[in-house]
Amino acid sequence: MPHLFERASTGRAKCRGCGRPIEKGELRFGERIPNPFAEGETTLWFHPLCAAYKRPEPLLETLAQTPGSVPDPESLERAARGASAHRRLPRIDGAERAPTSQAKCRNCHEPISRGTWRIRLVFHEEGRFSPGGFVHLACRAAYFETGDILDPLLHFSPDLSDEDRAELARAWADTAPPPGKLP
Ligand SMILES: [Zn+2]
Ligand SMILES: [Zn+2]
Repeated sequence: MPHLFERASTGRAKCRGCGRPIEKGELRFGERIPNPFAEGETTLWFHPLCAAYKRPEPLLETLAQTPGSVPDPESLERAARGASAHRRLPRIDGAERAPTSQAKCRNCHEPISRGTWRIRLVFHEEGRFSPGGFVHLACRAAYFETGDILDPLLHFSPDLSDEDRAELARAWADTAPPPGKLP
């Protein structure tokens, strides 16, 4: 069976991308993968935009095969093309303040100071996302090879308050790479 878009028949499934429930009746994306525990296949469910950011290739394939199955294919396609253009972008799992200074940045290998913003990463393997460490906000362009990551970063940070978002925006501007250094 190919991957699919459908309306959720129950509200029991959680999105693999963000960990939040997918409401009954909401549009969802199902990625079909070989069942790791048994014969046959299994389906991993996502909110469509979560899949666009974290599983861009299967989502793009499905958009191409079943045009008309989603109400706003252009914005999904744009998000997925952005995510698939740089191999590390699908690792973005949100922004948070470092609770300790113990974690080291995956880009520069320096510690990330307590209380400063860091980008959480996940690695995808055989249908699973596992914690993949962190990078400094200031290391974003070097690590992701593009500075254009704010949309997925905010998308996977739904718990931030308005105040947090304003602070993140300030930290973002303070750590912006010099103009002309990046495409
Ligand atoms: Zn989601
Ligand atoms: Zn760093």
